Amino acid sequence: MKVNAYAIQEPKGKLMPYTYELGEIGAEDVDIKVTYCGICHSDLSMMNNEWGMTSYPLVPGHEVVGEVVAVGSAVKNVKVGQTVGMGWFSSSCMSCSNCMDGDHNMCDNAEATIVGRHGGFSDHVRGHWSWAIPIPEEMDSSKVGPLFCGGATVFSPIVIAGVQPTDSVGVVGIGGLGHLALKFLKAWGCEVIAFSSNPDKKEEILAMGASKVINSRDPEELASVQGKLKLIINTTNVTLDWDAYLSALSKKGKFHTVGAVLEPMGIPAFSLIAGNKTVGGSSVGSPELTKTMLDFCARHDIYPTVEEFPMEKVNEAMQHLEEGKARFRIVLKN
Ligand code: NAP
Ligand code: ZN
Repeated sequence: MKVNAYAIQEPKGKLMPYTYELGEIGAEDVDIKVTYCGICHSDLSMMNNEWGMTSYPLVPGHEVVGEVVAVGSAVKNVKVGQTVGMGWFSSSCMSCSNCMDGDHNMCDNAEATIVGRHGGFSDHVRGHWSWAIPIPEEMDSSKVGPLFCGGATVFSPIVIAGVQPTDSVGVVGIGGLGHLALKFLKAWGCEVIAFSSNPDKKEEILAMGASKVINSRDPEELASVQGKLKLIINTTNVTLDWDAYLSALSKKGKFHTVGAVLEPMGIPAFSLIAGNKTVGGSSVGSPELTKTMLDFCARHDIYPTVEEFPMEKVNEAMQHLEEGKARFRIVLKN
């Protein structure tokens, strides 16, 4: 099958039409005809090789939504004609200890949708059945794409930390991931404090359920929530005053980064020791966690707030994201 896609050939280059051949379908593979694909900041980081693991040409896109058009002979969970989503991961080995434990996102042999292979800025994507996740029928498929990477990534820390509805939780950076964290935590019953560097977003952030918006770069405003937060989820990839965020944690609180902060994070030991605090991170979530998140979203009518661009305008869409103008997640439509 010939795939029509958009690929980048070098860091800071433009996405250009690109075609490639998908060989014969494997026994455990699923072919998805892409209808929508969200744009994650990780697409931008991969395009610019910020993590040193990009191979060019690269077809980005790992918030894929589409129709299953072909399945291999050993695929059991999905059928031709079903609408599915596929996120950061496109394959897990199903046999390492992590897969056997249900942690497919930590698979020793995991394949990521846009690492060494091609993703969803295209008309077709292939992946292992484990990551082709059926979308509940009642959900609007034009908006769900961002749940498959951004959504699962911020749902996961809430589950890992065992957040209670009585907790106060902070979210740093209200972009694609951050605005979903906010909506999830609000529906979870928590008090949510948003940390944003952009005052223009304040009213929308409050409307999404934050009880307070704090300037993420202002020491005085950060000091106003000292000792308050059980969990802080960081979604930014920049260097902030991490010590001030550790001070905002309550005793036994946890600072959890999902943002791929590009520089090493300076964490003073004494900021952790006295209050028995922890720092952690995580990568997306398992297929089962993704399914649980979709059910949670369907139950609470939670959708990403999206801006739609036609696939042909992918370069304009990337620029919109890079300039910090996305409100709050961009979705490409085929
Ligand atoms: P995004 O939509 O660009 O949002 C990032 C937000 O960070 C921005 O909206 C902005 O929020 C804040 N920010 C950006 N520059 C800043 C600066 N100079 N100072 C302070 N705040 C700043 O990106 P995203 O798609 O949500 O992704 C966020 C990060 O998560 C990226 O590093 C991405 O690679 C990573 N990621 C990780 C995983 C994982 O599995 N761990 C999965 C997906 C993505 P405000 O305007 O509110 O300040
Ligand atoms: Zn992503």
